[in-house]
Amino acid sequence: MTKSLKIFEQVIETIDNAAKIMGLSENDIVFLKHTERELTVNLPITMDDGSGQVFKGYRVQHSSLRGPCKGGLRYHEDVTLQEVQALAAWMTFKCAVVNIPYGGSKGGIEVDPSKLSDKELERLTRRYTAAILPLIGPEKDIPAPDVNTNSTVMGWIMDTYSTFAGYTVPGVVTGKPIDIGGSLGRNSATGRGVMFMTREIMHRLGKPLIGAKVAIQGFGKVGSMAAMLLENEGAKIVAVSDVSTGIYSADGLNAEELINYTSDGGRARLLKDYENKKAKKITNEELLELDVDILIPAATENQLTEDIADKIRATVIVEGANGPTTNEAEKILKRKGIMLVPDILANAGGVIVSYFEWVQNIQSLMWDEEEIHRAQERIMIRAFNDVWNCSKEKEVSLREGAYIVAIDRLLRAKKIRGQLI
Ligand code: GLU
Repeated sequence: MTKSLKIFEQVIETIDNAAKIMGLSENDIVFLKHTERELTVNLPITMDDGSGQVFKGYRVQHSSLRGPCKGGLRYHEDVTLQEVQALAAWMTFKCAVVNIPYGGSKGGIEVDPSKLSDKELERLTRRYTAAILPLIGPEKDIPAPDVNTNSTVMGWIMDTYSTFAGYTVPGVVTGKPIDIGGSLGRNSATGRGVMFMTREIMHRLGKPLIGAKVAIQGFGKVGSMAAMLLENEGAKIVAVSDVSTGIYSADGLNAEELINYTSDGGRARLLKDYENKKAKKITNEELLELDVDILIPAATENQLTEDIADKIRATVIVEGANGPTTNEAEKILKRKGIMLVPDILANAGGVIVSYFEWVQNIQSLMWDEEEIHRAQERIMIRAFNDVWNCSKEKEVSLREGAYIVAIDRLLRAKKIRGQLI
């Protein structure tokens, strides 16, 4: 609880810091420090053995100022309301910084999904969807995958919502299976975006990506895709990790082989059982402190802490996860001259292609994959340039630049829409 409480405080601190640079008053930004709407639900489920269990779930809408609320759904035993609030707020700033017409929201269920059977997970997902039904819809709030949820889960949400509506509503959720209105390119979108942003930052810094040594914390959808796409660009992935272990090879790992290994046979296989003569096992901490060019935290929040920041040797950090760096750690990284591409920009690829999926759904169109990759790249490079130029002009970090760009857009929308009372 305390850990997550601190996360929302960190969001507020980040907003305050950007507002100070922008010369804004508390009055101007106080609305951003509060969520618009929060729902807590208790979800009674019949387990496979016939017993009953109740799970807690949340849906938080932080802002609908720039459009319908948008944000993923997370299944994790540590999920709390405060964590979901922070994640919802990050979605608001993410959608604003890349300039797509959405607000921000997030959902979560306090559950370790590895302990549930597929049938139990389906019942839990359907129950959750029914419970948050009044809040979601293509024009209101559109869930998507996040930590431990995937296209199968999104399919159940779509089906449950549609059953209640009495007709098929593909636009209620993004990240669906392709056969029921999912978009090509959505699965790899966040990892692809991390690759685009890594390429851009290296280019701006005049450093080659070819041969650059990369360490990636987290080998889920984001980390694994980023690894493979960066490898295609010529970077050398020397280390990756998951919850079970880290693995390291000075000569470079083979991302595709690792993806085939971890995704073999339905539920994800952990790296701890991966055998390769060239790869040695390392701890999570050792991975973060490796002598690499690029470090990509792509797991969960609060991974780069003060203690670790001191020992980080990478010169560039690209945040694939949401909120992986604590504010205290960031001050240290800044002092050390480490260039950090912030989460709300670096991992925005997922929500950008979610936006394309939603646009295709509400127009009953289907785009081809190249078109999607190109459109994603265009939006992300434009956002990168906006953030880069702002940070140069104001002589601030890329995170500060990203928040300034986002807050500026949010304030403009607020001014145009005016006051209710
Ligand atoms: N969960 C992803 C994120 O944190 C994607 C959200 C979405 O596609 O709506 O950005």
